[in-house]
Amino acid sequence: MAKTPAGIEIPEIIPDKCIGCQICISKCPVEAIKLTPDGKAWIDPEICEGCGQCAEVCPVEAVDLDRTERIKAGKRLRDKPFTPVSGQVVSVYIEIRNGKAADVSWELVGKARELADKLEARLAAFVLGSDVEEFCARAGSLGCDEVHLLEHDTLKRYVSSLYGHALSELAHKVQPEILLMGATSHGRDLAGVVATHLKTGLTADCTGLDIEEDSGLLLMTRPTFGGNIMATIFCENHRPQMSTVRPKVFPMPGLNEKKWKLIRHAWRPPESSVPELIAFIEDKSLLGIDITEYPVLIVAGKGACSKDSFPLLEELAGLLGGVVACSRPVVESGLMPYERQVGQTGKTVAPKLYIGVGVSGAIQHRVAIQGAERILAVNNDPDAPIFQVADAGIVGDYAQVLPELISRLKAKVKNHE
Ligand SMILES: Cc1cc2nc3c(=O)[nH]c(=O)nc-3n(C[C@H](O)[C@H](O)[C@H](O)COP(=O)(O)OP(=O)(O)OC[C@H]3O[C@@H](n4cnc5c(N)ncnc54)[C@H](O)[C@@H]3O)c2cc1C
Repeated sequence: MAKTPAGIEIPEIIPDKCIGCQICISKCPVEAIKLTPDGKAWIDPEICEGCGQCAEVCPVEAVDLDRTERIKAGKRLRDKPFTPVSGQVVSVYIEIRNGKAADVSWELVGKARELADKLEARLAAFVLGSDVEEFCARAGSLGCDEVHLLEHDTLKRYVSSLYGHALSELAHKVQPEILLMGATSHGRDLAGVVATHLKTGLTADCTGLDIEEDSGLLLMTRPTFGGNIMATIFCENHRPQMSTVRPKVFPMPGLNEKKWKLIRHAWRPPESSVPELIAFIEDKSLLGIDITEYPVLIVAGKGACSKDSFPLLEELAGLLGGVVACSRPVVESGLMPYERQVGQTGKTVAPKLYIGVGVSGAIQHRVAIQGAERILAVNNDPDAPIFQVADAGIVGDYAQVLPELISRLKAKVKNHE
């Protein structure tokens, strides 16, 4: 095997295995790989620095590089200071269901714009579906440089194998460094399929994203060990770096005046994965209450989990234009449905006002209310952890505090009439 002057082994292409996909060409940081007239990749030993990236990205293992050499190459690459490569892409998948885009997709466009600016990269949106072109303009107006549109009749309904194939094919074409998706039931399902197709890692349910200054790697933060610690995870050797992020973690971005372009893609579904739909069952959760959409949440905890407390909680919610949500024990007691649960295994919320009634403020609950503008806690234990994050607190029994609050609010409303 050939070596560089520094004695680093240079990889070789195995022509019989190479399918001419050119992924290695696009990934080579020193442009040492060319396509021969017979459609095979060829590595110029004069230019190659032996970084081993081509071996990492080759989908058919047509790059011959010893495993130990690969490990050494990976280390050399990590030790190298990061310099932005022009042409890098940060991408966001725009989730569209029942003719509506998920808000989390736009929230991610805003965050991805920041990440792309740090990397001096382009920001791309992936819009997939049937009859979904109208969503491209929104993606462009919120800061994307380019919007990739893939439309096909078979994408009218979400089928993971079809969407997975289509989005993976788009990612293969665009070669993003980063691919972000909403941690909704749709996004969680699709992200797993796409990460498997692309043979890359996936950090699910993130609550924070950033770029590491030295390496340019995406830092993906999420709660772990039952929410007791926050772990920051990165994906060193595979691309794209994939992450799903919960709704309401990032704010909705404002309008961005920059120019953007629309790029259409043709796609042919793989025959083997086009299922025959016999019947379609409507998603009932879309018909219920979405607690993330309310400006005020009255959150019932185990300390206010009784049939008698609910009329009070509902009345307070009604007066403030909000809705009643709850902690996990309340769902477990059967008093409220899961769709109302706030927390690590429930929903992340960012209301203008959160009122926790009989909520202790366990870490698995607190992690999902960080985005609330104001937190008010009602609890009979002055040492309850919820008071550590509350802007205001009332120490007392909810059965006495809530009627008093309600009557004062009513009096206020009356004075304004
Ligand atoms: C992996 C994992 C995931 C989890 N996911 C979630 C999640 O998504 N959401 C979630 O909420 N939890 C979740 N939990 C559970 C979490 O650890 C806590 O057990 C839970 O949040 C506690 O709920 P609570 O505050 O309602 O109840 P408690 O912790 O029992 O607190 C009840 C509070 O009510 C107060 N109180 C009692 N009586 C009154 C009264 N009369 N008036 C006023 N205050 C009163 C008490 O002082 C106490 O502070 C998860 C746990 C794990 C391990």
